[in-house]
Amino acid sequence: MKITLRKIGKSPQNFESAQEGVTLKGTLAFDPTIKLVAMHAKLSGVVETECAVCGEEFDLEVDEDLDLYISDGVFIDENNSMIDVIEAQNGELDVDELIASEVELIKSDYHCCEFCEMGED
Ligand SMILES: [Zn+2]
Repeated sequence: MKITLRKIGKSPQNFESAQEGVTLKGTLAFDPTIKLVAMHAKLSGVVETECAVCGEEFDLEVDEDLDLYISDGVFIDENNSMIDVIEAQNGELDVDELIASEVELIKSDYHCCEFCEMGED
């Protein structure tokens, strides 16, 4: 799913998209003070990942908040605000791509399966 950024107004707009068993659901609103689109969303679902201890694949339940800003084109952080900004290309936010990259991020974290987790205590 792609969202055209200039169509997003100041009042929050709901969106929902699912990809690879994971759903991203929340709101998008244009913030005129920083001229960025703010996303407040929740990423939930199941991600297949590898146990860092035994290497077995297992299903990891995901339920996390995703709050970030979307810039229409290249973002220059003039105020050094250190906010989380993703740069959209061609004025469109590719939600599926965002979900895929968040899933990759989760997968790259340290995870261990329930059996190894029990053994660690
Ligand atoms: Zn394991």
